[in-house]
Amino acid sequence: MRLTQLLQDHFGFDHFRPGQEETLKAVLAGQDTLAILPTGAGKSLLYQLPAYCLDGVILVVSPLIALMQDQADRIARQGDFRAVVLNSAVTAADQRAILATLGDYHFIFTSPETLGRGPIIGALRQLQISLLVIDEAHCVSEWGPDFRPEYLLLKEARAALRPSATLMLTATAPPRVAGDLLEKLGFNPSRVRTVRRSVNRENIFLAVKQVETAAEKRSYLRELLPRLGAPGVIYLSSRKEADQLAAWVSDQTGLRAAAYHAGLDAIGRYRLQTQFMHNELDLICATSAFGMGVDKNDLRYVIHYHLPASLAAYAQELGRAGRDGQPALALLLYAPGDESLPALLNQVELPSQAVLERFLAGKLPLSALGERGSVIAFYLRHGYSPARLPALFAAQGKLAQQRLAKMVGYVKERGCRRSYLLTAFGEPAHPQTPCCDCHQPDWQPAMLGLQPAAAHPRLQADWRRQLAALLKLAPGSGEDR
Ligand code: ADP
Ligand code: MG
Repeated sequence: MRLTQLLQDHFGFDHFRPGQEETLKAVLAGQDTLAILPTGAGKSLLYQLPAYCLDGVILVVSPLIALMQDQADRIARQGDFRAVVLNSAVTAADQRAILATLGDYHFIFTSPETLGRGPIIGALRQLQISLLVIDEAHCVSEWGPDFRPEYLLLKEARAALRPSATLMLTATAPPRVAGDLLEKLGFNPSRVRTVRRSVNRENIFLAVKQVETAAEKRSYLRELLPRLGAPGVIYLSSRKEADQLAAWVSDQTGLRAAAYHAGLDAIGRYRLQTQFMHNELDLICATSAFGMGVDKNDLRYVIHYHLPASLAAYAQELGRAGRDGQPALALLLYAPGDESLPALLNQVELPSQAVLERFLAGKLPLSALGERGSVIAFYLRHGYSPARLPALFAAQGKLAQQRLAKMVGYVKERGCRRSYLLTAFGEPAHPQTPCCDCHQPDWQPAMLGLQPAAAHPRLQADWRRQLAALLKLAPGSGEDR
């Protein structure tokens, strides 16, 4: 009751979304909690609302350096809390100044590497940490697709800080990853409260378009995009292709498209995000750099031009569509052989033992370790001998291939894509109406409630019923163009 009041008073929402209240109650009771809630479920609120109930500092660890300042600003604006950012983008002089007055802040945002290394731990130990938040917690598991070795440093950091409670947040953690991440963070899993909600996103229609060539992907998009409405995102696997497609789409359709990837500098990214937020762009052609934490609620579609490397990555990316609960589309374009690129990327080429040893001795730079240099360097610095690495990477490479095979299975699925996805995450099959192109092979954007750009559809609350009725009346494949 009191929690709902806080939600209404401070956030202006009528009721909690699934999993939010249960998580908040556990956290406020001082329980270590792992919340596995789908993208768009409202996980940020789980550490924002406790600020109204808890004394002491809320320390938020996140891998998203680019977004931290924005998150901090928003909290400061919204709740009148003092919030500060400590990460590698903050100059040493600023850091010293902040550390000297750290006790003045309610919220501290930091990255795992900053927390794990610098003098910040010493300063934080002087404070009472009422809540340690580990966002994107799946990054700590070597079995997940987004493994970040810096996350392994959090175990020690947590032990040093002794927070009153720890809250781990993720959108994707099948049981194996969940168990692994708790263990890697030093928890006894039986003493952690796990709150898990379905990965199913009922308002997102799932579809795959199989074509023969890349050129066909484009002609399909030329015809489809103008009918989809805005805003939307197209994911591609390389910067160059993202640039090219954005230019092509603008040219061919008149839609306002731009490319977003790690090749842009901070200002360029910020400008694009702002334009997109203000609906001055219809769509973004992005690499996976456009990702975790993007806070745009009204994406009407997420299209994958290339095959994602795993279902977990796919579920996370498609989940960015329709966070406002309105109808949205997740479409994957597939041409035969598309799996060879992610397969190639999965093969970690390990530098030779001699190179590894010379690196350890300080005689070679990090860049000598190749593509995954920072991961390899991390293992070496944390006590793994060069001789152990090949077996470790071989095991990880094999898992990566298995994940890719599951992803290809989604493309080839003939029964029900939603059920395939849910089953892969250990949930019961659950077809619905509308569901996916297996059930509605002749789907059209208009049937899904998607309308051409400019006219922003405001659908009534009973859109699902209307949509079901529409689909029954849907024209046959003769008009499928
Ligand atoms: P996640 O991190 O789980 O992907 P976010 O924390 O970014 O999701 O929240 C997604 C959106 O949902 C935000 O715009 C947020 O304000 C909104 N939101 C959060 N909780 C609620 C709620 N109880 N009711 C309505 N909207 C909410
Ligand atoms: Mg989030």
